[in-house]
Amino acid sequence: MSNADPIVIVGGGQAAGQLADSLRREGYAGAVTLVCDEPMPPYQRPHLSKLYLAGILAHEKLLYRPRDFYAERGITVTSARRATRIDAAARQLHLDDGSTLPYSGLALCTGAVARRLPVPGADAAGVHCLRTLADCEHLRAALPAATRVVCVGGGLISLEAAGVMAGLGKHVTVLATQPRVMESIAVPAVSDFFHGVHASQGIEIRTGCTVTGIEAANGAVCAVLTASGERFPADLVLVGIGVEPELALAREAGLSCDNGIVVDEYARSSDPHIVAAGDCTRHPNAILGRSLRLESVQNAVEQAKTAAATLCGKKRAYAQAPWFWSDQQGYRLQVVGIAGRNAQVVLRGDPATGSFAAWCFEGERLVACQSVSRPREYMACRRMLENNLLPTPVEVAHPRFDPEARLPRKAPLAFQRRSV
Ligand SMILES: Cc1cc2nc3c(=O)[nH]c(=O)nc-3n(C[C@H](O)[C@H](O)[C@H](O)COP(=O)(O)OP(=O)(O)OC[C@H]3O[C@@H](n4cnc5c(N)ncnc54)[C@H](O)[C@@H]3O)c2cc1C
Repeated sequence: MSNADPIVIVGGGQAAGQLADSLRREGYAGAVTLVCDEPMPPYQRPHLSKLYLAGILAHEKLLYRPRDFYAERGITVTSARRATRIDAAARQLHLDDGSTLPYSGLALCTGAVARRLPVPGADAAGVHCLRTLADCEHLRAALPAATRVVCVGGGLISLEAAGVMAGLGKHVTVLATQPRVMESIAVPAVSDFFHGVHASQGIEIRTGCTVTGIEAANGAVCAVLTASGERFPADLVLVGIGVEPELALAREAGLSCDNGIVVDEYARSSDPHIVAAGDCTRHPNAILGRSLRLESVQNAVEQAKTAAATLCGKKRAYAQAPWFWSDQQGYRLQVVGIAGRNAQVVLRGDPATGSFAAWCFEGERLVACQSVSRPREYMACRRMLENNLLPTPVEVAHPRFDPEARLPRKAPLAFQRRSV
């Protein structure tokens, strides 16, 4: 692809913003257009269940890059415009106003959409989800009048938002289908810790609880019904039961999809002119030794850098240990790697002190670390996983195990090397 060919990016999240930025950093001088159906330039979703929901963070702080960043780099941002169809043969993207954009390289960063609650009454007024800024604004606007909130789902977003809403004085109940909160991403010690801190702040958490219906009065929610026959009164419901990758464009264009747009380690889709990055992709991970779809900022940003390099004709494989964080009730959970259900856990520190790390092994092999208020230990584990310097469970369990000591010293900074 020559440097003058137009590149079109579809998306308005962190993957799209990073991809646009990285194209220029890679030296791409041609036209770049970013098309997004949301009204705002690319922004950061994590704040939506944290400081922005709490009313603490200013609107502009959500932006991934400042508003003038794109114009300053000659990147055209077309907001509030949906891409409706890819004509892969003609290499044209069709938009919802009837216009078309020709491309020689197309980047799909279409992310994911919130999963809807498939029960009667789920469309009642007062039932919310939390994926977009618009969702968050609706939720914030409804909160002052709400007294009793039910959060459906025991995952990160439901729990983060539950914590914020309890902090705003709401009576909050969390209903989770799984036997423990965050079951799919956290080991039992971490689940139990966060269950405990939420309960200590007055949040009622019910696990193993399947929601079967929403009861409404005059079109507005008044209760949540469960399979066990219980009725939880509510004047506001937040549904946080996961997301589905947004694949409409990719599927219609005939791209290979399998719970995500299938891409290789260079973010290339099954069409040689189309790359994809972020929550919408299913990609191979060399460190984990398998393909997967991730929903995290790290994946969106780092895969976007790879996709930009690929569009610039460079080969830079995306191969990182996945990581993410979550802020709940004043505690930061940091997770690197992925622990399966049968992972063996070595616990360092004591959950009772609010500072501990669960080192997770499959057999003898270190696969993940889930830490609470232990950022250095978490960082050390991240470097171990990325450099394949893996300690055994026995080593980690040793009282004198120093995670940082076994890492190679970082290369000194350039200015430190200079002789005076
Ligand atoms: C409330 C919340 C809290 C989170 N907290 C954390 C956290 O603490 N840590 C963490 O690591 N991750 C967190 N995440 C996940 C993280 O935000 C996502 O992984 C990340 O946003 C993915 O970025 P993306 O660019 O791939 O997709 P998205 O952010 O979903 O962006 C996709 C964009 O594409 C647009 N789009 C889709 N189809 C079209 C189309 N046809 N035409 C035009 N535009 C289109 C969408 O409207 C959207 O703007 C959180 C997510 C949410 C919702």
